[in-house]
Amino acid sequence: MRWEELSSDQFPAAVKQCEGVCLVALSVIERHGHHLPLGTDMYEGRELLKRAAALEPALIFPDHILTQIPEARHCPGTISIDGDLILRLLDNVCREIARNGLKKIVLVNAHGGNRNLLAFFNELQLYGPRDYVIYVTHPYTNTRGALEVPWEPASDGHAGPGETSMMLAIRPDLVARQQIPSDDESKAREHLQALKAVGVQTGIWWYADYPTHYAGDARPATAEIGEQLLDAAAQQLAQAIKAIKADTETRRLLDEFYAGSQQQ
Ligand SMILES: [Zn+2]
Repeated sequence: MRWEELSSDQFPAAVKQCEGVCLVALSVIERHGHHLPLGTDMYEGRELLKRAAALEPALIFPDHILTQIPEARHCPGTISIDGDLILRLLDNVCREIARNGLKKIVLVNAHGGNRNLLAFFNELQLYGPRDYVIYVTHPYTNTRGALEVPWEPASDGHAGPGETSMMLAIRPDLVARQQIPSDDESKAREHLQALKAVGVQTGIWWYADYPTHYAGDARPATAEIGEQLLDAAAQQLAQAIKAIKADTETRRLLDEFYAGSQQQ
């Protein structure tokens, strides 16, 4: 069930029915090549949560689109919020969710660039006691390579055949197939090779390889595969929700840790 669709009167019973588990899809508004909409991650995240919660009940938080995306600031339509505000906003959102009685908050990554942000945000939880637990999961990447697909899974990337297939399943009216390039635009530009060869990264690394935010030839995409990809990720997320409902160990360890860290 979706948070915004409940009445205030219905809310407490919904919290109980979901065993205090709230799902937050972390997406972003950014360019997805020439053929997909700016809100691709938002649509994918929303659909994934809907399918997962149908398998294992959990409350679905409204779309959370204000996450990291400085690497697309050169692309029209990108919404790129300041880094410190992203962290403060996410922390505030989690505190609001917990204040409403949902003490298990599942941050579901729906945008590749959020991986490092979420790992860091999770570590920030250790600074002080909280009455809720944050769980982070990456269902799309966790299920990558699990299905038979008519492309090389390692070559699939941003706005590539996987994402295009999912959008063909969710909102085919927003996919402009005729705009998919037929040249090498989806291939890495392979700039900065001298630095990469010695294990050095810079902040411009993504732009250096994929300036149009398109990685992996999207032409073999189909709605049928999109359905399968969404279902596989939803099943993975439903299993995660089940394990999170059963989990009491994280709470116990956090309380032990908080008690110890406050004595210093
Ligand atoms: Zn995307």
